[in-house]
Amino acid sequence: ISPLPDNPGQFTGIAASPGIAIAPVVHYQLAPVSITEYHIENVEIEWQRLQHAIQRAKQEITMLLSHASVQIGDAEAAIFDAHLLFLADPVMLDSVRRYIIEDRLNAEAAWQAVVEEVTNSYRQLEDAYLKERVDDVVDVGRRVLRILLGNLPTELHILEPSIVVGTDLTPSDTARLDPRKVLGICMTAGSATSHSAIIARTLGIPAVVGVDSQVLTVENGAVIALDGEGGRVWIEPEGSVLTALENKRQVWQTNQAEARKKAHQPATTRDGQRIHVFANIGSVADAKAAVGYGAEGVGLLRTEFLYLEQIKPPTEEEQLQVYQDIAQTLGELPLIIRTLDVGGDKQIPYLGSTLQETNPFLGVRGIRFCLEHPYLLKTQLRAILRASAKHHIKVMWPMISTLTELRAAKSILNQSMAELKKDGMEFDAKLPVGVMIETPAAVAIADHLAKEVDFFSIGTNDLSQYVMACDRTNPKVANLTDALQPAVLRMIQQTVEAGHAANIWVGLCGEIAAETAVAPILIGLGIDELSTNPQAIAPLKQVISQLTTTESQVLARVALNQDSASRVRELVYPIG
Ligand code: PEP
Ligand code: MG
Repeated sequence: ISPLPDNPGQFTGIAASPGIAIAPVVHYQLAPVSITEYHIENVEIEWQRLQHAIQRAKQEITMLLSHASVQIGDAEAAIFDAHLLFLADPVMLDSVRRYIIEDRLNAEAAWQAVVEEVTNSYRQLEDAYLKERVDDVVDVGRRVLRILLGNLPTELHILEPSIVVGTDLTPSDTARLDPRKVLGICMTAGSATSHSAIIARTLGIPAVVGVDSQVLTVENGAVIALDGEGGRVWIEPEGSVLTALENKRQVWQTNQAEARKKAHQPATTRDGQRIHVFANIGSVADAKAAVGYGAEGVGLLRTEFLYLEQIKPPTEEEQLQVYQDIAQTLGELPLIIRTLDVGGDKQIPYLGSTLQETNPFLGVRGIRFCLEHPYLLKTQLRAILRASAKHHIKVMWPMISTLTELRAAKSILNQSMAELKKDGMEFDAKLPVGVMIETPAAVAIADHLAKEVDFFSIGTNDLSQYVMACDRTNPKVANLTDALQPAVLRMIQQTVEAGHAANIWVGLCGEIAAETAVAPILIGLGIDELSTNPQAIAPLKQVISQLTTTESQVLARVALNQDSASRVRELVYPIG
């Protein structure tokens, strides 16, 4: 293909999800929340209901505040301070209270009335600063309304197929996007291993993130083009750019179609080494896609998504249903269920998990959170165990950094087994147990961990951020968080050696597995299983069938001795 020409109005960002998109811009904005007005009987209960909603909104904002100051700086984070001040304003609260107590209005209507009074009064002021605060009041107003209505964040209001432009999308925002309407995602924050990017890839929506904030000034409806593989964005692109992108899209589609023809065959290297290619999924729909794309099983079920779209934790029965549905979709294929990995960029407000942590990725995340809330973990384990009665299921712990954590988690698993036995429920008493290797501590003690589990799965998304001391969602350090940094490759090597010495298999489920060009390095390092987003499975199998383990080992040895990730990339990507 001819190289993509440069033109003005072009931005370079981080390639977050492959594919080409050309469509009008829609700025990320939520649809209005609709409310009904009615008269209430018990004014005290209504007032309490509002107080709880405000309290919950404060928790959500505090969480956003700590995240924002890390991600985008204190100036932007100050916006959330203003939201908190508004929620604590005694005059405003007194007005709402009067509507509820004196006029017997329901909390939603009373709240909405006061928010409108405040915004109208700000609009009439001369003061430019207060005029600008109108949007903040509207924003915080709708947050409280959404909580009062007990519903989830509203859908994005998109009528035509478009490219969504904004500062950032949360993982749950991304999960709700409809790929028929959202052809592309262009964000100023984010990185390739943030959970929003991972979801975009699973949905097959091309995405470029970490783009210059100038892109936010592009008008709604203006056409933009993005290349989610090259990480580039063009505003009102010229004809030559469009032609080059169209060609690239066609080559991409032909390659995908070619790879899919053989997607259902096992992946074996030319010298006969079988590599298992599994899928990373978050839902029943993803499981269906995974099977269609040729996955030989699920190497990582991110169970957080069951908890994200809720207002309370899913019950044992609800979880059992989902795990069984996924397992049934997979038929005889194995399913690895990872226990709840809340925290970091996956915040679940109703669990109050990581509120007010300065560094949520270094805080009470993953197994740490679950060990602090053993009942939550037990509910999940009971559901997993019950699903294991009739299906090939394995369980996997996230964020392990000590043997004590692993033993504590296994002891809760044993307790759950004992309880189920007492209740006369069936389960797989030999349920295989694995750990994710995603902290440098886990690598250092991998020889000990390997003696107590049945398998390892290396989570390079986190391993890279913790080894390189870089937040995986921060675009400014994206080069350092690269899993191809020799320091990270050496950690992979050590883990494989420790696992194999103890006769257990070692998989890898970080996003680097989806980069087909990198497969020879990973296979050369001795990885037995690769787990990736369903869309990448067919091309990955195709690449594996073209290489040999001996060549891969030589390449891996060279890669381990490079001085940076970019040098390693030069080994596997053609120049230019
Ligand atoms: C990882 O850290 O590489 C991983 C697969 O887990 P997650 O991306 O969900 O943190
Ligand atoms: Mg992880």
